[in-house]
Amino acid sequence: MINIYSPATDFKPIGDQMYALVSTLFPICRSITGNGVRETLSHVQKLLPITVHEVPTGTPVFDWTVPKEWNIKDAYVANSQGERVIDFKKSNLHVLNYSTPVNQKMSLEELRPHLMTLPEHPDRIPYRTSYYQEKWGFCLSQNQLDALPEDDYHVVIDSSLEAGSLSYGEYVIVGETSDEVLISCHTCHPSLCNDNLSGIALATFLARQIEQVKAEGGKLRYTYRFLFIPGTIGSITWLARNQTNAKRIQHGLVVVCVGDAGKFSYKTSRQGDALIDHAAKHVLTSERESFNLIDFFPYGYDERQYCSPGFNLAVGSLSRSTHGKFPEYHSSGDNLSFVTGAQIAESLEVYLKVIDVLENNHTYINQNPHCEPQLGKRGLYGNVGATVHRPTFEMALLWILNLSDGSHSLLDIAKRAKMPFETIKQAAKALQDSGLLKQA
Ligand code: ZN
Repeated sequence: MINIYSPATDFKPIGDQMYALVSTLFPICRSITGNGVRETLSHVQKLLPITVHEVPTGTPVFDWTVPKEWNIKDAYVANSQGERVIDFKKSNLHVLNYSTPVNQKMSLEELRPHLMTLPEHPDRIPYRTSYYQEKWGFCLSQNQLDALPEDDYHVVIDSSLEAGSLSYGEYVIVGETSDEVLISCHTCHPSLCNDNLSGIALATFLARQIEQVKAEGGKLRYTYRFLFIPGTIGSITWLARNQTNAKRIQHGLVVVCVGDAGKFSYKTSRQGDALIDHAAKHVLTSERESFNLIDFFPYGYDERQYCSPGFNLAVGSLSRSTHGKFPEYHSSGDNLSFVTGAQIAESLEVYLKVIDVLENNHTYINQNPHCEPQLGKRGLYGNVGATVHRPTFEMALLWILNLSDGSHSLLDIAKRAKMPFETIKQAAKALQDSGLLKQA
């Protein structure tokens, strides 16, 4: 048995560190390619020695092609007095992500078709992209647009769209077997906290926690692969370049939207009944009064690619609020005050508990299957299970002994007993130590 999750861990400082990373990354203008992604990955590298891969523009990846690299220095709309009325330096959301360069004088009427707002939230700047259609545009709040008078505007986008490369980060923790657990997060959104930065922070610190367990002598059953990739084109690129590695992925989670105050949500893998699906559902069932259980659908984040029929990997997605389902989604409302370190830390705890299930979900055989063994004479009744309520612990012992016939895993037993996996795991360890249980 290995403790990936430990009830003794103090998550407060980890939450603070994750929030600090989110705050550092917040101002950077990221996109699916470009220096913003590289700068983001270099900050992650200070905490975790990830490898950064560069895939050249024009590389075919399945039905797609790695696009031109986009970089931006500045962008603004200035009025006839030379005052910036829309300014990229104030928020990088103001520029349509992947805008082609422009430097032109025009009237408000000429500018208007290039302006995007969010009328239902008139004080927020929307986040919009145009990766595969070359155009330019600005995003601004409806209130800001309503206040713009007719004028002679100077429109500048100092960007470049040229041959370069797509950058992504990868980190592998080698376990006892080459069977892999995939943890994937996207790195392509500019100043948006819940949608992208919370996932980057959680993935980084999840890797550090697992690395620490290994460093302390824990024998990891699985090899862990962490991907920090641009959404869609990043997972397609990784899968195209790693078809052999992909075959080793036994379980996986796409980390998204883990920093807001919303209820936990689990979106199942396409398979629907994979171990990762059962593990996540059981952890959330035993932890939370309620959570959203979402059946797989072919939209959302990178699970769409991992669960495409040619791969059909057991990859689900564990989040708080979900893709497109919170009012702050893809707008300036998804900012540093929308997420907290404590909430990301709470999500990290859930991730650790799910991985704890994957690592420890073995099947055992009761060595004394004819009637109940006498637990008292083995010291198992009354004085063990210090971290678990005693009668609960004793019931856990009885459930494990009863169901350990070689055809029920510890997770099966936890589900049937309606007990947290942690309780079943501790009881199984006590039974194994007493010789009453052997791994099948
Ligand atoms: Zn998004």
